[in-house]
Amino acid sequence: MTSTHAISGNVAQLKESATIAVSQRARALKAEGRQIIDLGAGEPDFDTPAFIKRAAQRAIDEGATKYTAVEGILPLRQAIADIANEHNRCEKVTPSNVVVTTGSKQALFNACFALFGEDDEVLIPTPAWTSYYEMVNLARASAIEVRAAASNGFKVTADDLERYATDETRGVMLNSPCNPTGSVYTAGELSDLVRLAAERNWWVISDEIYQRIAYDGPATGLLSVARNRERIIVIDGMAKAFAMTGWRIGWAIANTAVAKTLTALQSHTTSNATTVAQHAALEGLRNRVEAEAAIAGMVSEYRRRRDAALEVLRANDGPGVIEPDGAFYLFIDVQDTNPTAEDAGSVFATRLLEEYGVAVVPGVAFQTPGWIRLSYAAAQDAVVEGVKRIVACRRKMMGT
Ligand code: PLP
Repeated sequence: MTSTHAISGNVAQLKESATIAVSQRARALKAEGRQIIDLGAGEPDFDTPAFIKRAAQRAIDEGATKYTAVEGILPLRQAIADIANEHNRCEKVTPSNVVVTTGSKQALFNACFALFGEDDEVLIPTPAWTSYYEMVNLARASAIEVRAAASNGFKVTADDLERYATDETRGVMLNSPCNPTGSVYTAGELSDLVRLAAERNWWVISDEIYQRIAYDGPATGLLSVARNRERIIVIDGMAKAFAMTGWRIGWAIANTAVAKTLTALQSHTTSNATTVAQHAALEGLRNRVEAEAAIAGMVSEYRRRRDAALEVLRANDGPGVIEPDGAFYLFIDVQDTNPTAEDAGSVFATRLLEEYGVAVVPGVAFQTPGWIRLSYAAAQDAVVEGVKRIVACRRKMMGT
């Protein structure tokens, strides 16, 4: 007899998101009345800029409450294409290359599902965002972790990718600025990776969701270094730079045939991204003056917090850390607090939460045990206090 709890092979390997597990425990402690400094969430603490919210209100009043084209409204796809073309060395991007999705997460999932399948291998420079591995596995392909040196911010080189490549390799997932390390690839580094991928006919999925949260100007996007975008899918969205996580607007830029496939896939699952949110996103992308001012304000605040956090670590002979050039994370090495533990990061994160009231994400969520990820998308006082407690917790665990 079949168990009523039997689940399909489609999801047999699926793991609960480790980032969510930590925030649930932090929430439970808060509900018990504990004061918790939450540096776990990968979400801007800023409100969505007012000019974008006003556009959404106007859109509702004007009746933007019905279905749109599955791939998104034309003016939004045009605005996305226009921005992409500002630094594009490849064939011009047109609205037919753009599919608007329910967050960049959906664009990433749909791209993996559409491009990869059984027996395919997909290279993932690791540490990487937790969902890449699951998305590749949900497509029944194998996620291959590519490891590079921590001393280079875990950034991979073409040689690193070659070392892990096989005849089954079909693609590579790039993410610059990177979650969880905050590392940013230079144009030269990216063009080496793209050249190898082109030679091998691999798909490249480039997740550029943190592109505008970078401390030396916007990070290099793939279209500005590639010569041909036939096998490149650029993923981006409104969530991070525009502080619009809850609006759920992302997109994929792909060749026309792939864009059509992504649209067909979406037509049978979720249809269009929320109509009002599309109009809000359109204003965010079209009103350049307001947008640049809002983003610059948030990025300079993230920079202050990053600098303050690194200062505390340096002044206290703190743990090893990747000094980030983008995104809003500090990736911290805590292996020395428990040298023989298989997952020192989780042991540390649990102790930090239970005894010191600070929530961070264990590195195992990014396939890198022995590390923790701190998000500095939180008030500066909280970030600085959180880092001080990390230093104290580490000292206690090391008996120093
Ligand atoms: N890509 C990376 C690297 C992320 O860190 C996140 C969110 O944390 C996403 C994509 C998903 O963003 P969205 O809210 O647009 O789905």
